[in-house]
Amino acid sequence: MFEVRDKDLAGRIGRLKTRHGVIETPYLFPVVDPRRQEVSLDELRSLGYNAIITNAYFLWKNRREEALNRGIHSLLGFDGIVMTDSGAYQVLQYGSIDVSPREIVEFQSSIGVDIGVILDLPTGASKDKKYAEHTVKETLRRARDASRIAVQGETLWVLPIQGGRFLDLVERSAAEASRIPGYSIFALGSPTPLMERYVFSLVVEMIHRARIHLDPSRPLHLFGAGHPMLIPIAVAMGVDLFDSASYILYARSGRYLTEHGTHRLDELSYFPCSCPVCSKHSPEELREMDAYERTRLLALHNLHVVRRVLGEVKQAIREGRLWELVEAYARSHPALYKAYQAMAGKGSWLEAMDPRVKGIVKGIFLYDCLSIMRPEVTRYRLFIKNTYTPRIPKDRILVLLPGDPEDKPFTASSIYYEARSLYGEAHYVFYTPFYGVVPQELDSAYPLSQYEAPVNPCRSVVREMVRDIGSYVERFQSAYKGIYAAYSPRLKWSLNACRSLSAKYNVRCVKL
Ligand SMILES: [Zn+2]
Repeated sequence: MFEVRDKDLAGRIGRLKTRHGVIETPYLFPVVDPRRQEVSLDELRSLGYNAIITNAYFLWKNRREEALNRGIHSLLGFDGIVMTDSGAYQVLQYGSIDVSPREIVEFQSSIGVDIGVILDLPTGASKDKKYAEHTVKETLRRARDASRIAVQGETLWVLPIQGGRFLDLVERSAAEASRIPGYSIFALGSPTPLMERYVFSLVVEMIHRARIHLDPSRPLHLFGAGHPMLIPIAVAMGVDLFDSASYILYARSGRYLTEHGTHRLDELSYFPCSCPVCSKHSPEELREMDAYERTRLLALHNLHVVRRVLGEVKQAIREGRLWELVEAYARSHPALYKAYQAMAGKGSWLEAMDPRVKGIVKGIFLYDCLSIMRPEVTRYRLFIKNTYTPRIPKDRILVLLPGDPEDKPFTASSIYYEARSLYGEAHYVFYTPFYGVVPQELDSAYPLSQYEAPVNPCRSVVREMVRDIGSYVERFQSAYKGIYAAYSPRLKWSLNACRSLSAKYNVRCVKL
């Protein structure tokens, strides 16, 4: 039903099969309201959106007989993939709705939706832990109750994970949800107020806590998170599906979405975009249009941006560059940077999720103190720390050489040739920011010479490097006849490293 085609970090490109076709993930379902739809379903389709989401509760309330007689696809005039939400959002807004959980599940099944959601009890932004606990228990009870319907038929069913800001409850909810049969997709409620207040780091924590307990063979949907700037990091943490009404709600209030934030149409002199809408019109022209047409065009632009970001994310997954994409997006807003820090803090989890071999292998870009957390670097440093042992003849000396990020591979660098002419046969081990130590025999292994990094990185990266060399010397010093550490005045960090080594161990510091 769900097939993973490619992976990077916890993100993946997948294919979700439904009765009305295949969804390539990551994907965002545009929210459609049949009562008011400025962008037609045909237009959505031509923009690449072959799956939409609409509200089953409104249909049940206002057009029940028609929906039951005609089926959802004929009623909407759409032969693509239709997902329905069950009214949980209305529960959040109005407290309760006049349909039972079982009725709305049976209704979705009878009108032939491709993907249906049980009527969950959302935790929302509740700060009351007792209430949050109640929403977890009640949603799980309803999920068990609907499980009999979910295991039959061709509709794919979504089981929402509750708990909100209480991360222990999110974990418990996810762990128990995984044991209930019949559900093909999990969903995480992202409390709208957190999104509106830009508390993205908490959303990252919530996704992480849910993901560690959920079956990885089933996709994870993030409810109501449609701002394009949040998509890369959510995907990197393991989200496959999104839904959002932002494209149209923002358009109605004259807001223009970009990858890096939101603009008000009133404040724009130029469009920073080249989609068909922005190529044909100026902000001024749009401001002068009647409200309906303006909303329509802004919505089309917003949909273009979301599609562009999804494409960018998928290509980054293909190339193993999702970390770098998240890093670049993180500069859009301090709240997003904080979320990126939260993601970097899950480095070892991401390392375990990250595939070792990728389809396309490209060099990696390392920037700052957080780049050291990326899986490729973490994995290599763990290998050196836990597995690597030098295989060298007795009576060799160890020569520690600074590895210059701008002179790679290190075994072809000028400093290496110079050292060889001085010390001849020796075991040469490079020390370099980010990777720590690189023994000469590993120099050509990916990605030790396939990377770009600043020559003088931030202090914490240098500290980690000094720690790595220290632990190397500590473990293997008895295997060598003597130890020399060279420094180069060009590489500021090499003198510090040299000094700290000679102060602690029997290491001779020399200038090269
Ligand atoms: Zn545009």
